[in-house]
This record gives sequence, C-alpha cells and structure tokens, in this order.
Amino acid sequence: MKCPTGCGGELVQRRSTRGSFFGCTKYPKCTFTSKKLPGTEEKEKEGEAVA
Ligand SMILES: [Zn+2]
Repeated sequence: MKCPTGCGGELVQRRSTRGSFFGCTKYPKCTFTSKKLPGTEEKEKEGEAVA
C-alpha cells in the first residue's frame, strides 16, 4: 500500500501501546499514520491472521 501523501513510501503495520496502526516507511520524514488502511474500512479480513 503506497502512502497516500505521495511521499513515495509504503504503509506498514506498526504497533504501539495503544494498538496497531499503519505508518509510513518514510517516517520520520513522513509522519502519516492511519488506524486503518485507506479504502479498507469496512472490508472483511480475508482469513489473514494478524499476529
Ligand atoms: Zn508517507
């Protein structure tokens, strides 16, 4: 998933003490974060185990 800011980075799942979120691989240059991947809001997870 490309970062929606157009920075050229990718969104990767990260974890914090408050739970998981998606952050940009260009961090700290790009500080985009999202609770969910853009565009996947109500989508069911297709049997993917999120460890
Ligand atoms: Zn970015």
